[in-house]
Amino acid sequence: MNHLTDEPRLPAARGATDPYGTCVLLKHGEVAIKGRNRRLFVRRLEDNLRTALRGIGGSTWIRTPGGITVLGGEAPVDELVARARTVVGFTSIEPALRVPSTMESIEANALEVLRTACEGRTATGFAVRVKRRDKTFALTSSQLERELGARLQPRVDGLRVNLTSPDVTLSVEIDHRETFLSAVRHPGLSGLPVGSSGRALVLLSGGYDSPVAAHRAMRRGLACDFVHFSGAPYTNPASVYKAYALARELNRYQPPGELHVVSLGKAQKQLAVAGAGRLQVVAQRRLMVRTASALATATGAQALVTGDSLGQVASQTLANMAAVDQAATLPVLRPLVGWDKQEIIDQARALGTAAISVLPDEDCCSLLAPPQVSTGARIGHLKVVEQRLDLDELVETLLANVQVMRPGQEDDRTPAAGPGRPAAD
Ligand code: ATP
Ligand code: MG
Repeated sequence: MNHLTDEPRLPAARGATDPYGTCVLLKHGEVAIKGRNRRLFVRRLEDNLRTALRGIGGSTWIRTPGGITVLGGEAPVDELVARARTVVGFTSIEPALRVPSTMESIEANALEVLRTACEGRTATGFAVRVKRRDKTFALTSSQLERELGARLQPRVDGLRVNLTSPDVTLSVEIDHRETFLSAVRHPGLSGLPVGSSGRALVLLSGGYDSPVAAHRAMRRGLACDFVHFSGAPYTNPASVYKAYALARELNRYQPPGELHVVSLGKAQKQLAVAGAGRLQVVAQRRLMVRTASALATATGAQALVTGDSLGQVASQTLANMAAVDQAATLPVLRPLVGWDKQEIIDQARALGTAAISVLPDEDCCSLLAPPQVSTGARIGHLKVVEQRLDLDELVETLLANVQVMRPGQEDDRTPAAGPGRPAAD
């Protein structure tokens, strides 16, 4: 359909008193085709929407009469639209006018919606699309489309019916007592409601890839917590600030998840002293997933997520990924495995994380990185190095000093609602 995507503008409903008026229609995507579990998915969608509306000012209401959710309230409709657009699981978001399901009311209000949608633009063609969820309405959908089109055309200057490439599409959705009129459609994030697939722990570095991977994981229904490994005490806290800012940005799309910060510097040094050499980066990555697995088990996550893309850098060859997987006790999900770097950067820009990722930091992986990273790490060699350390004790020490924050939530557990100094050891 050729709906406009400008900022929503709606007239006040005519001849209609409360509870009719402006609202937002939220169309379900995959949730609509879920079978017996659909009620659970819908409840999750509503809960997530409620969370996204927190602090909006004024009361709001949410109803899910059929395969759509209707949102309304005291806040301006464009504010409701902006909040709904951050909720995963809706395919489209349409500011709408809710009017009684009578021909008289539909016609009068449709005219206003159409006029308002055409204001300030050079629209010449329009189409009416009718969906009748209430089949008892006197006219069929196509009869009403023709009837409304014919009645509206002479009443809007310069506007003619154009069914092939309309500038404005007036959508009319008829339910038993109420009808929704809209002429603007914003694309939603689609996917499955965050939390409906379970919980995951995202390994969040400061780069472009892992935030995009996190967002993809959320769009498949995973509620995400984050873990960042800093090179502290041998690096400055810039990477922690970046991870915090990235997690805050990502938390806009889900009920806020926690950020765990682990100071890896001393453990990295121990691996180097144990003779990791060209295996240093893969050995560090194995230590990261080992630690993340223990952390995930403690926080109730069922999988790890990384931003790996096959072959992107030396540490992401198939052999190295397999070596990393063997150190994990949970599945390691890699949503970006088949993505090109440019695709990832474009997505990061669209998400708003690119502006943070581009900032300079002291990444823990560049600390102690060998001049040449092994592209085909052998498990046997890695184990020889690792056996020189007490890995269980090392993981325990790392987790004993973890710093926990909840970016984007007011009751952040850190005193200054932001990252403090990373733990020194
Ligand atoms: P990114 O852009 O996400 O940093 P990258 O291209 O730099 O990725 P690597 O540095 O090889 O790739 O890291 C691969 C993945 O390992 C990252 O996407 C992330 O999931 C994880 N990872 C790497 N470094 C860290 C870190 N310091 N803290 C947490 N996770 C990390
Ligand atoms: Mg990185």
